[in-house]
Order: sequence, then structure tokens, then C-alpha cells
Amino acid sequence: SAMRKSRIQRTKTVCTYCGVGCSFDVWTKDREILKVEPQMEAPTNQISTCIKGKFGWDFVNSPDRLTKPLIRRGDAFYEASWDEALDLVAKRLTEIRLKHGDDAVAFISSSKCTNEENYLIQKLARAVMHTNNVDNCSRYCQSPATEGLRRTVGYGGDTGSVHDLAMADLVIIVGANPAESHPVLSTRLRRAKKKYGQKHIVIDLRRNGMAEKADMFVRPEPGTDLVLLSAVTKYIIDQGWQDQSFIDGHVDGYAEFVNSLAMYSLAYAERTTGVPQSTIKQLASMIHEAKSVCICWAMGVTQHLGGSETSTAICNLLLVTGNMARPGTGAYPLRGHNNVQGAGDMGCNPVYLPGYERVDDPLVRAKYEQAWGVELPTTKGLDNHEMVEAIHDGKLRAMLLQGEEMALVDSNSHYVRDAFTKLDFFVVMDVFFSKTAEFADVVLPASPSLEKEGTFTNTERRIQRLYQVLEPLGESKPDWIILQELARRLGADWNYQHPREILEEMASLAELMKGVTYERLEGYRSLQWPVAEDGTDSPLLYTDGFPFPNGRARLVPAKWIEPTEFAPEYDLHLNNGRMLEHFHEGNLTYRVAGIKEKIPTTYLEVSPELAKERGIETGALVRLTSPFGQLKLPVVVTDRVQGYQMYLPMNTSNDEEAINILTSSESDVTTHTPAYKELRVRMEVLRER
Ligand code: SF4
Repeated sequence: SAMRKSRIQRTKTVCTYCGVGCSFDVWTKDREILKVEPQMEAPTNQISTCIKGKFGWDFVNSPDRLTKPLIRRGDAFYEASWDEALDLVAKRLTEIRLKHGDDAVAFISSSKCTNEENYLIQKLARAVMHTNNVDNCSRYCQSPATEGLRRTVGYGGDTGSVHDLAMADLVIIVGANPAESHPVLSTRLRRAKKKYGQKHIVIDLRRNGMAEKADMFVRPEPGTDLVLLSAVTKYIIDQGWQDQSFIDGHVDGYAEFVNSLAMYSLAYAERTTGVPQSTIKQLASMIHEAKSVCICWAMGVTQHLGGSETSTAICNLLLVTGNMARPGTGAYPLRGHNNVQGAGDMGCNPVYLPGYERVDDPLVRAKYEQAWGVELPTTKGLDNHEMVEAIHDGKLRAMLLQGEEMALVDSNSHYVRDAFTKLDFFVVMDVFFSKTAEFADVVLPASPSLEKEGTFTNTERRIQRLYQVLEPLGESKPDWIILQELARRLGADWNYQHPREILEEMASLAELMKGVTYERLEGYRSLQWPVAEDGTDSPLLYTDGFPFPNGRARLVPAKWIEPTEFAPEYDLHLNNGRMLEHFHEGNLTYRVAGIKEKIPTTYLEVSPELAKERGIETGALVRLTSPFGQLKLPVVVTDRVQGYQMYLPMNTSNDEEAINILTSSESDVTTHTPAYKELRVRMEVLRER
């Protein structure tokens, strides 16, 4: 029995699902996951988890796991040794680079991978392959939020902590669905409401879980959030409710900003957004009366042509009312994946090296060139959106993609898949044989979070360690080992023995991360960047000023970009988002028996009004058509949606039901984040119930 006991182990890890970044202990017996046990000392979640964190781990033992490298032969794949697969990847990437130039190759990192692995893939791109063509999936979601923050307050991250959200007087949630997408965060907000009367305002098309109990629920017309927020800001200023001493002391650009608000009168806003003037006034009063205000937002804001502009408008509103750099205040883009913050922080971006230092800054480059002993490319690389275009144009010929289900989650799937078929060479690293992998020339079996060490960075810039719970399954390997073995075959002398060495190399280079060490992250300890050399971290940003040369924040003029137009035959608006039980396209959660049984498929939410008009009931089957594709979906009639607006959870890998078969290639004008939320379709009834 002593032996039996010794097989039972308890290991600390960080959740692999959403950006809340819950940490907990995992109990295992060999490869069996016995239970997940959250601990009081977990900084963000304490003793809470949601269904995914608690029960969502069966996928690690799924028989579908990739356990051997695969190489394409004609229409099929054969199992190969690591040597054969990596030799082939190195040979083909080198050939293509020599023939077509450095920028004919591109890299996509993964926000399911660790910081260390993200650091390595951008280093591989830049230092070994001499290209800045490297991006990550925040291009699909939060790049506009990052842009809005960078313009106004400086850093591309939440300005405070989950703790500040929990202590705010008023929390405004715009275009986000934390009850399903960030469950433990919503639990903390609900608790704050119950305990000390925290007020909640929800601005959304759909009556989501947080809207149900909110103090105020506002439903603007799709794509008009900027108009609403700017009208609220203008009304606040017209009433003299702005925080003039904060503005005078800490903020530039006020006069020009006020001028830009001239057009956003109450009457104009009511006409454009459909929100009554009295509601706009009431919203402004609630902000005025609250001692501390936080605004959370997510993809309902960012995935529009004007996603960056609306994110900017949110920061403007907070600055004007002095709700920044104080406990209980600030701007909170809610990060989707567990490590989407980290992927950007580590420099998986065509413009930024680690810590958001620009590739076109000669001083920054000089620092990295000296450390890495190479010459670096000087011009910005392609972002994800531009990569797809460059493949269609024949300029981009090879791609290495790390754990990104691009064939399903990028917008306009047919167009993206068509691009894949045009690549000369395509490498996919993943845990499962994804839809994207079907287009690959080589598929490399990677290990999920439980099978490796490293760090993840959650939505509040909090870096946390995960410890290895299981051995890699079969011949799968952690991504950092795969990348290192590939880099060595491409001529680099990398010799990292442990992820610790990778993170500490990063910290020695990125100003924001100076004091990040594995020791300071031991167990449940964590660090929120910026981290000073002595290890002091920054739960609340900007208390000593803003990171611009004069230390002042910047108001940026309001600019509304009208949503994409569709031909009149596309008479219904189709919104999309997440559901609680599943994560994204479902490659993980549909392989968790308990979850799959509960929610076996996705479904289309139709309003009672629309259902009546079209003569359908729950259980009906409909066909949706957009200019880009068609889906066949079961209907759920619900008053969560209203009128001619419908909602489809994105959580499926079935092409008959996957939202991005319908979405367009339009994108945020500044960051190229797809305008997933600007979609209109027509509907045919195939079966009435
Ligand atoms: Fe994981 Fe997010 Fe759920 Fe926490 S709230 S357990 S991080 S999915």
C-alpha cells in the first residue's frame, strides 16, 4: 500500500482554459486525474473554479491524442520518427527561405502554450529565420483592446487586478459575457454585489447571465457602442461632472477630445443606438455617483471595424471621470485564452519584441542583437490577417503554426482554408489532429499544459507557474522542446535545459519583466508585470504616472466607424460568442465525456418574435446563408435575444454549424482583428420543430 500511495500525487497547475487564470492542485494516480482541488492561496480564484477547470481534463488521455509525428504522402499521412519529421521541416523551411526570401515564411504562436514557448517561437522567427512574420491569436480577439489602452494609458493590459474589480462601486460590462466566458470572475462580481451592493451595468445585444441581475441593462444597436459611450462621456462633461483635477494633473489632449464629442449629442445617440436619451442620462448619472468605476469589455467591442476606436472610447470615459490608477477603478479587457496575455507579452507580434519593445527601434534591436548574437530584421512583419492575404498573393509560401485551430477560428473559413492549400509547406504543432492539421505537410505532436512546466499570464498580467503533472503522452513533446530541436537543425546553438532558463533570458531583456524569476513564482506565488529588478510587481498600474515621456495619459478623439454593410437580403443579424461548458471550437471540451454528454452540439438562439414570424419552435432546423457560406442549425427559442438578432455559440468543430463558415474577411481598421460580430444572414426553415 505504500507503493500505491506513492503513485498518488498532488501537483499545482494553472487552468488551461480561460484568461481568469485560476490555479489549483491536481490529484493524479499515474495518468488518471483523480480531482482538482483549488487552494485558498490561489491569487485569483482562491477556492473557486468553474466546470471547465474542475472537470475539463479528460482530453489529456483521449485516444485521439497525437503521439507520433505525421508526414503527408499524397492525400494521407504516415507516422514518422521525430528525426525524419524535424529534418524535413528544417530542410523545407530553409529551401523556401533561400528561394523566396526571409519573409516568405511565417509563424503563428499559441495562447495555449506557455510564456517560454511563446518566447521561443518569436525568437525562432526573428533570430533564426530572420523575419518578423510572427503573430498570435490575440489578433482574433483582443488586439483592438490592447491598441485602445496603448494609445491612452500606455500598457496593453488590464489596468488593475481582479481584486479591483471585486471592490469597485460600479462595474460596467460592455460586449462581454463573463458568466460563461470568465465564470470565476463573474462569481466574484456577483459576490461583491450581494455582500456590499456593488452596482452592475451591462451593455450588450444579448441578455447574458450578468445582464439578468444587473442594475441596468442597455441594448444598443449592433456596432454602435462607441456612439453610446461617447454620448455618455459628452453628457458627463456637459454636466460639469468630469474629474477636472485628475485631467489637469494627469491627462493630455482634453480640449481636442471635447471637440471630437460635439457630434455625439443625446438626440444623435438615441437615433443611432436606439437607446433612449433618458437611459443615456441615467447611465451617466450612475457613473457620476459611483466612487469607483471599472469597465470590462471583450469581443462584443473588439470584433468590429471600429474595435480599436471603441476600446479607446472606454479608456477616454474612464480618464475623464478620474477612474484610473486608483484602487477599484480601471479598464479591463477580459482575455479569452489562459495565456493570450502572455503570447503578446512574449513578443509574438509582428511589431513588438518581448515586453512591447518595438522592432523598428534601433536601440531595442541592438540590445537583442547583442544578446542573441544575430542581426535582426528591421521592418515590421505580417499579422495573421495579412498572412492569409499574402498566401493568396503568392508572397507567403510556408507557415509554422503552433496549436492554433485557424481553419475554424479565423473568420471566413473557406477563404482561410483555400489559403492553406496554396502554401508550399505547412507545419502544424498540436495536441490533436485539428481541422487545420488536415491541410498540413507535417504534423508534430505537442504536449498540453499538464505535461510540462512553464508559466502562464492571466488577464490581470499575473504570471503564474505550472508544474508538470504527467509525462508527455506517447512520443509527444512540449512545444519548447520541439522548437529548440527545430532551431538547432536550422543552425542555432540553443541549449535550454529547462523552461526556467528561457523565462530568465526573456526577463533579462524585456524592461517590463526585469525582476521575473522562477523563485519568485514558486508554488502559488505570482507576479503582475511590470516587475522591477527587486521583484516589486504592479497589481495596480499608473499610480506613479503613465508610461509616456511626460508621464501623462492621453485622451484620443472619438471616431465612429460604421459597421460593415450587407445586401438587404441578409435581413438577420447573427451574433456569436461562447457558452459556459465548452471552450472555443471544442477540440478539448468535446473530448471530455461529462461535458460532451451535457452539451453535445451548438445551437442557434432565435427570439420569440422572430420564431413566431417564421413559424418555428425550439427544435426547428434552419439553414443560414451569408455571402460567404451556409450552415444548418438546430434552433432554441429564447428571449435572451431580441427581434431580428440571433446568437450562435462558436463552440463546435462541425463545419455544418461552425460560425466562421459564415463570417467575412472584414477587420478592425487599425489592428486587423476580424469583424466577427458584423454579420448578417438570411434564414430558411428546413423543419419547423
Ligand atoms: Fe479555468 Fe477560467 Fe474556469 Fe477559472 S474561470 S477554472 S481559469 S475556465
